[in-house]
Amino acid sequence: MSTISDRLKRVKERVVLAAEKSSRSPDEITVIAVSKTRSVEEIEAVIQEGVTCLGENRVQEAEDKVSKVSDKVCWHLVGHLQRNKSRDAVSIFEMIHSVDSLRLATELGKRADQIGRRANILIQVNTSGAESQYGVEVDEAQDLVGAISKTEGVRIQGLMTIGAFLPEPEQVRPSFVRLRELRDKIAAANISGVYMKELSMGMTGDFEVAIEEGATLVRIGTAIFGPRL
Ligand SMILES: *Cc1c(COP(=O)(O)O)cnc(C)c1O
Repeated sequence: MSTISDRLKRVKERVVLAAEKSSRSPDEITVIAVSKTRSVEEIEAVIQEGVTCLGENRVQEAEDKVSKVSDKVCWHLVGHLQRNKSRDAVSIFEMIHSVDSLRLATELGKRADQIGRRANILIQVNTSGAESQYGVEVDEAQDLVGAISKTEGVRIQGLMTIGAFLPEPEQVRPSFVRLRELRDKIAAANISGVYMKELSMGMTGDFEVAIEEGATLVRIGTAIFGPRL
């Protein structure tokens, strides 16, 4: 049976290979170990192996874990956020990947301000067109970025997408291409206070393709921790 250590090593090798394939430096890519549903012991095991960024999809679950994990790591919120959890979210997470409305961004900014911080956010974009997916539509993303850029207390650091729910990584590539092109377009618009540094895309099934298309943050759960029960 493979251990977390083996699996993580393999993931790191695959990240390096994908980066090389697309003439990128592996240093440009951060692996976020998505630890939703995983125990504190499993989280401590990946930290032991050098992981410094953890991803959670629920504020409450993250809160419990943050209080139990003593090591200095940064927590990212990768899942959907309800506005009434904004206060806790800004105090726990270094980066919130799932902002898709001005209302949510405004609330995050207000809460961040109250504790003397700035909320680092990514704008989640629905690149698959699937009704069931969160995220602003591709066509509306630049306007949303423009509106949020005027919001106190938040800093847009880039874009995030989940991509199409399709079995073959190559089938998801068009979603990642769309996000990269959108990033380039928004970056070219030079909106004051907006950074288009990060592209959060790629999960266990498709992270190599995402890296080839420019991902800077890959969100990997299963390939590191094993299947979720
Ligand atoms: C669960 C989750 C991941 C990780 O998924 P795996 O397929 O286990 O790698 C990545 N991103 C988001 C938004 C998630 O909810």
